[in-house]
Amino acid sequence: MNVRAGSRIGGKLTRSGELLAQKLQQEGIVNSEVLRAIACSPRHIFVPEILAHKAYDNTALPIGQGQTISQPYIVAKMSELLLADGRPDSILEIGTGSGYQTSILAQLTDRVYSVERIKSLQFQAKRKLQSLDLHNVSMKHGDGWKGWQSKAPFQAIIVTAAPTEVPQALLEQLTDGGRLVIPVGGDTQVLKIITRHGGEFKEQTIEAVRFVPLVPGAVQ
Ligand code: SAH
Repeated sequence: MNVRAGSRIGGKLTRSGELLAQKLQQEGIVNSEVLRAIACSPRHIFVPEILAHKAYDNTALPIGQGQTISQPYIVAKMSELLLADGRPDSILEIGTGSGYQTSILAQLTDRVYSVERIKSLQFQAKRKLQSLDLHNVSMKHGDGWKGWQSKAPFQAIIVTAAPTEVPQALLEQLTDGGRLVIPVGGDTQVLKIITRHGGEFKEQTIEAVRFVPLVPGAVQ
């Protein structure tokens, strides 16, 4: 863990972002760095233009291809859980989607590695992150079930789509002491934190959640 700052989005807060961060604080998010990242990230650029008026509501929204941008509360909650042992040097994210969660993570660590299976979503997310001058994100089009072997191990891994069971590759790509934050299940899902202690994995269940499925394979 280190204390260097991640990227800053122009270093400034936006009024809508600030109001959203205040709402999330009232709902129980306590990590001030996470709240600051939420306040700085322009969520409206990550949603379809026609839904921009809803961008700062605390709800998930469709982003095309049958996928959704996660609810801000869950983005903040998962980020906070990921940082619970301190700031990781790098984070692996599975399920880039709109890139909104990625934009938050990029402000909380030195480097984000993000994997997305749908090429067009990955392409759009990349352009948006570049427009925000977030240059500490490496992206890959591929199957997140396999993690990102060549960049492993990771102190922190976040998965923003739900597998029916925890992918073995993600466990193997954790550092000793590393943590994985992941929704698991089918019709009913729970958010889990899995921490690695040598060859042992300790599992903690946080709360019920609802994510799109983690689908094996990649598509153009
Ligand atoms: N955090 C994103 C959530 C997007 S929804 C956001 O807030 O925008 C989940 C994403 O996971 C979708 O974009 C979906 O295409 C992607 N996904 C599903 N299965 C995947 C897999 N096996 N590998 C990589 N990405 C996957």
